Amino acid sequence: MVEPNPMVGCVLVREQTVGSVRDSVVIGEGFHEKFGGPHAEIQALVSCSHPANAVAYVTLEPCCHHGKTPPCTGALIEAGIRKVVVACSDPFNQVSGRGIAELKSAGIAVQTGVLESEARDLNAPYFKRVQTGVPWVIAKWAMSIDGKIASVSGSSRWISNTQSRQIVHQLRGRVDAIVIGVGTAIADDPLLTARPAGQRIARRVVFDTRARLPLESQLVKTAADYPVIVVVGPQAVSDRVEALEHAGCRVIASPADQRASLEYLLRILADEGCTNVLVEGGSQLLGAFNDARAIDEVHCFVGPIMLGGAGSVSPVAGAGFSSIDQSARLRDIQVRQIGNDSYIFGRLERQDL
Ligand SMILES: [Zn+2]
Repeated sequence: MVEPNPMVGCVLVREQTVGSVRDSVVIGEGFHEKFGGPHAEIQALVSCSHPANAVAYVTLEPCCHHGKTPPCTGALIEAGIRKVVVACSDPFNQVSGRGIAELKSAGIAVQTGVLESEARDLNAPYFKRVQTGVPWVIAKWAMSIDGKIASVSGSSRWISNTQSRQIVHQLRGRVDAIVIGVGTAIADDPLLTARPAGQRIARRVVFDTRARLPLESQLVKTAADYPVIVVVGPQAVSDRVEALEHAGCRVIASPADQRASLEYLLRILADEGCTNVLVEGGSQLLGAFNDARAIDEVHCFVGPIMLGGAGSVSPVAGAGFSSIDQSARLRDIQVRQIGNDSYIFGRLERQDL
């Protein structure tokens, strides 16, 4: 898992003429496999014996700065690469066109913009974080066929089946933060860890205006092992805040306004290198994210049950949008059958925040 760095692939191609036929042969391949490990370009170069005069195809502009590894531009130049085809430039401020400029000044031909939108889609969460200072927000919920997440009495276990819940655990294992509202924390007492553990350990975040998160909750009890952030409002009682801190939680004091407080948290998470944030509810918190047009991706599980009831809770509350035209709309929708559940996921059209 390479996040918070972008996913990058590199292919080295030798163009050769056999008789009268001009042909291209792939001589090397690589991808950036692990955060802190060698970049795709380096992997591709070491995968072949004679990279000189080859053409390198990369999904992202080669880096030109000393990060965790030496710059790729230097390695490409040294290897005698003839031409580099770049799908899209890297918006990261230490690269941002300089990688391409460096290759050109070394006499290497550079072609840009090949399959650019596909490459940008591949790394949409990374581009969003680097370009806006806000992480990619994934909303997840499980609901009945009639669009309810809990019965009139508040019961929600379990609307989706075991395999669907395993998919949620996989999702948790690849995000940097998991966010819930305090109502959900109190009602369900979730642990919010990935089981089995994924590649990443997500920060567990609770929106808790009045610092009500119980000290005996699973979240607080495991705060020493897996980070817990409690986002409180100005009205939180200091004794409660101190008790949470004493129990190992990190408390963030946020603005009173809910929308401002969402953005405040998201910017802190992005600054700390969080690329993907999963919002697991409840209804009010998902409603607040939806009202702020802050959701980028939706994962919805539909269980084969009908709850009914005017008082049953629906997944996304908040103020909502006043017309269908204004509503958030999914693109690239995929639907999978998971046993008797339907799993619907997709990205939303470009959002404001
Ligand atoms: Zn690099």
